[in-house]
Amino acid sequence: MSQRFDVAVIGGGHNGLVTAAIAARAGLRVIVLERRHVIGGACVTEEVWPGYRVSTLSYLCSLLQPRIIRELDLVRHGFHIYPKDPTFFTVFPDGRHILFWGDERKTAQEISKFSTRDAAEYVRYETDLAQLSSWVEALLLRTPPNLIRRTLGDLTEFVRLGLRTLKLGDEGLVRLVKVMTQSARDFLDERFESPEIKTTLATDGVIGAQGGPSTPGTAYVLLHHVMGSATGQRGVWGFIRGGMGAISDSIASAATAAGAIIRTNAAVERILTVNGRAVGVVLDSGEEIAARAVVSNADPKRTFLKLLQPGDLETEFREAVEKIRCTGSSVKINLALDALPQFTAYPTRGPGAPHRTTIHVCPSMDYIDRAWEEALQGRPSSSPMLECTIPTVYDDSIVPEGKHIMCIFAQYAPYHLRDGAWDEETKDRFADRCIELLAEYAPNIRNIIVHRQVISPLDMEREYGLTGGNIFHGDLGPDQLFFMRPLAGWARYRTPVKGLYMCGSGTHPGGGVMGAPGYNAAREIVRDLSGSRFGK
Ligand SMILES: Cc1cc2nc3c(=O)[nH]c(=O)nc-3n(C[C@H](O)[C@H](O)[C@H](O)COP(=O)(O)OP(=O)(O)OC[C@H]3O[C@@H](n4cnc5c(N)ncnc54)[C@H](O)[C@@H]3O)c2cc1C
Repeated sequence: MSQRFDVAVIGGGHNGLVTAAIAARAGLRVIVLERRHVIGGACVTEEVWPGYRVSTLSYLCSLLQPRIIRELDLVRHGFHIYPKDPTFFTVFPDGRHILFWGDERKTAQEISKFSTRDAAEYVRYETDLAQLSSWVEALLLRTPPNLIRRTLGDLTEFVRLGLRTLKLGDEGLVRLVKVMTQSARDFLDERFESPEIKTTLATDGVIGAQGGPSTPGTAYVLLHHVMGSATGQRGVWGFIRGGMGAISDSIASAATAAGAIIRTNAAVERILTVNGRAVGVVLDSGEEIAARAVVSNADPKRTFLKLLQPGDLETEFREAVEKIRCTGSSVKINLALDALPQFTAYPTRGPGAPHRTTIHVCPSMDYIDRAWEEALQGRPSSSPMLECTIPTVYDDSIVPEGKHIMCIFAQYAPYHLRDGAWDEETKDRFADRCIELLAEYAPNIRNIIVHRQVISPLDMEREYGLTGGNIFHGDLGPDQLFFMRPLAGWARYRTPVKGLYMCGSGTHPGGGVMGAPGYNAAREIVRDLSGSRFGK
């Protein structure tokens, strides 16, 4: 083999880059191998049309861990976030609308247009979610204990976790169990009466989920989306200057400053093993790279079922990987616009509140459930739920003068279609329907679109390497979280193949632009390779 490294990272998604940066800063020789021509994975900015730099997949940031931002000094490496305020804008068929704001009292005032009881409840709801969020947040940068194959250390960690959990108090404990098991609908029904408020809040429970608001487990997805504080305020999301790829670029810059080498157009074809131990990788060009540790940023299915030989793993383990639920039903539509959409419910001159926030087109929870039920039958929803954002209202550096970008995250459009395939015609039909729905609230949208990009679940798999088009490298269901992620007994970033580690969203604490899986994996790798201890 021509080159030798301490650590070879397969994939330059933001998590792979965090692992590289932390490992390089600990003095290890690190190389990152990214199959695409650009780093970032799902956290990427691409010039889709001349002059338009688009966050092609992920579009908002909140979960990126403040500790990572600080330790890697990402601001110095170009990271800048614009907190999104208002936080939500939902329009309803009867012409009414609601705005949620960063300031919860202002939001409560808005809510009182729909229900004074809900306005009072909202403040309590936020306090309760904050308590649950801080319980989860404390786990994000920790390596989970193994549920099976336990060591004494795992047992100690379970005891510590149990004691911490008890500190939530009786009411907090009950809330915790509920949020981990309930549907978003049940969770919200217990608190609010106004369908409009519940619908707006339920959207966080279904983004990227394989389920509607009535599906058990979606309450956790809701919590997952409100526990970040990268903007400086918990639960408030933000746009990134230069698009989401600027996050990956800033992490890459920190990694290279620490000595890591990052290569693009370097697809790993196979992980090399000798006597059950990973010793390096082979690229599709045939080039071999040796490393003491191989770390995969690819999702678990791709890593274990594609990059290893069947004989490298026990049949039982392979079968367990095959059973990980990892299909998606989201479509990303990116639009280049000549002007801003005008909402009939909230006309503005120039950029106004609706443009500065996340625009929801989903009039009720029943509507979202119906959209999901169609997807369950293998059909793209005839009336999908839309979440739209216009980053250029905050950052006009990514477009030609006077132009805008709109990102539409649309659900549901299943990876497995019962009839037909994800060809251009199917994509166009689905995107046309999304535009038609948006036009019911902002009629000028049809006339201001200059370009359109439609990314199906199949495109996410083929172009971006997301198996099954699952945006999180595996569902965020309670049975696939924490010590169950990616599999029970293998939650500590190590794998049955010695010297092979996992660092992507398929590991704890899961998907989203968080950096936590990459950070935790790096800590374990550094510990194993150098025997050193750092962090907690
Ligand atoms: C449409 C969409 C919208 C989203 N919106 C948001 C959002 O707004 N906010 C948010 O926080 N999260 C969002 N997410 C989720 C979030 O983007 C992902 O969970 C996260 O970016 C995944 O990061 P990662 O580093 O774990 O993996 P990835 O980004 O998937 O990176 C894995 C990398 O490995 C590379 N790779 C795979 N196989 C190989 C190989 N054999 N050789 C070399 N390289 C390989 C891939 O090309 C890729 O670059 C969204 C995701 C999608 C798809």
